[in-house]
Amino acid sequence: MAGRKVLIVYAHQEPKSLNGSLKRVAVEELSKQGCSVTVSDLYAMQFEPRATRNDIVGCLHNPEEFNYGVETWEAYKRGDLSNDLIEEQKKVQEADLMIFQFPLYWFSMPAIMKGWMDRVLVQGFAHDFPKCYDSGLLKNKLALFSFTTGGSREMYAKGGISGDIRYLLWPIQHGIMHFCGVKVLAPHICFAPEYVSEEKRKEMLIAWAQRLKTLWKEEPINCSPEWYFK
Ligand SMILES: Cc1cc2nc3c(=O)[nH]c(=O)nc-3n(C[C@H](O)[C@H](O)[C@H](O)COP(=O)(O)OP(=O)(O)OC[C@H]3O[C@@H](n4cnc5c(N)ncnc54)[C@H](O)[C@@H]3O)c2cc1C
Repeated sequence: MAGRKVLIVYAHQEPKSLNGSLKRVAVEELSKQGCSVTVSDLYAMQFEPRATRNDIVGCLHNPEEFNYGVETWEAYKRGDLSNDLIEEQKKVQEADLMIFQFPLYWFSMPAIMKGWMDRVLVQGFAHDFPKCYDSGLLKNKLALFSFTTGGSREMYAKGGISGDIRYLLWPIQHGIMHFCGVKVLAPHICFAPEYVSEEKRKEMLIAWAQRLKTLWKEEPINCSPEWYFK
């Protein structure tokens, strides 16, 4: 929808990958709609995934015993987080929608993207107990996880060997996004792109572009355990 702001957090090393193509399709389609689209291309940025002392500029709140959660919370309040975190937080703050584009790694997101979650979604900025879940500090924002798998749709079906793909989404959609107050749109999953024909891959890209055309009309999922586990 024209005027909306979208942040795409993208984690793939290779621009020619299917993830690269899915990211390009999203940038093109959303820009065509008049959205302003920002991409955090984590590998290209050499984004630091490790949560360390370096994330706090200047003196520590408690130099005797380092506690990452407390120190980043205090540093956020003082405006003393490292520049890369401040930059990402600005992008999140401005975004109406965050799209996370990645290949599934070990039933989760790649470490570089998990590092983005660990470091950017600091207490005080994204949540601040009891301001969590429906009262999380990022409420009024939307998130969408768009990812590719090695395993087939059948493997990720309810009775499949890998189990229902929704089980894997509980920690990332519920544990991270919903915890921060973000409303979650249904995931977009391209199953096993390496093992299908070129034509099928092209269809996957067309389907993504088609979905994006009406994305702003979608209702968020019902963020309850039933959605994931029933
Ligand atoms: C560390 C690690 C852990 C993993 N863990 C899991 C796991 O737990 N579960 C699981 O299911 N999988 C797992 N995988 C597999 C991984 O999820 C898949 O390899 C990945 O999702 C495939 O996506 P890709 O973008 O990398 O594919 P690519 O190999 O880059 O793309 C597939 C093909 O699409 C082609 N392509 C690109 N753009 C286009 C276009 N515009 N039109 C047509 N074709 C195009 C590419 O050239 C390529 O031939 C893991 C992989 C690794 C490395």
